[in-house]
Amino acid sequence: MENVKPTQFSVHLITDTLKALYTGVIDLIYPPLCMICDDRLELAGLEICQTCLNNFKLIGSPHGQFSVPGDIYISTAWALFEYDESFQQLIHHLKYSRRRKPIGVVLNHYQSQILDQLPVDEIDLIISVPLHPRKLRERGYNQVDDMSRWLMGKLNTELGNHLVKRKKYTSTQTKLTAEERMENVRAAFGVTDASAFQGKHVLLVDDVLTTGATSNALAGILEQSGAAKIDLITLSTPQFGNA
Ligand SMILES: [Zn+2]
Repeated sequence: MENVKPTQFSVHLITDTLKALYTGVIDLIYPPLCMICDDRLELAGLEICQTCLNNFKLIGSPHGQFSVPGDIYISTAWALFEYDESFQQLIHHLKYSRRRKPIGVVLNHYQSQILDQLPVDEIDLIISVPLHPRKLRERGYNQVDDMSRWLMGKLNTELGNHLVKRKKYTSTQTKLTAEERMENVRAAFGVTDASAFQGKHVLLVDDVLTTGATSNALAGILEQSGAAKIDLITLSTPQFGNA
């Protein structure tokens, strides 16, 4: 029989009670709020209320108009959700406020509709479009990694984030034209082991599809390395209509 001294037991009990009390008081003073609409959350851990979750608009088909200057290396691209105001808020939180849990909440909520669109049995390798190490240090995490890990689990396939690297630092590209972006990203990526891509069907993962120049440049390098097919999945896109 485990010999627990009464004093140790009491200390644990008091600590646990104090912690629960503290959390309760904090929740009372600062009730957990939905990160989108600021309504009080019934389930604190979710970060987004059921109403906001249900209101995201899933598009339900691949992106219809993928065009960048030059050759296109991406076969099929998905931009899963409409880029409305609440979805933009979600993406902003993922990128800048270090609140990462919501991505899992959203993906789980729409799991079957997302997976129904994907060639689940054909994908061999899932890869986040990497951030440059400097940007990674600035932000502390790649907000896309959680999505690629989620997909890896659901598709029961391999994660290849270690197989690609970002060599060139590109500052924020939002003010550049499509051609300038293309030029900017052309030499930005490298692979660590080209043999790992031979004959593989790769699914690239990014948060927002803007012009597609960045992910297309990476796809071009993977094709050079022997990948058979490269698709792209993103959360949303501000630029194009969807077919
Ligand atoms: Zn809400």
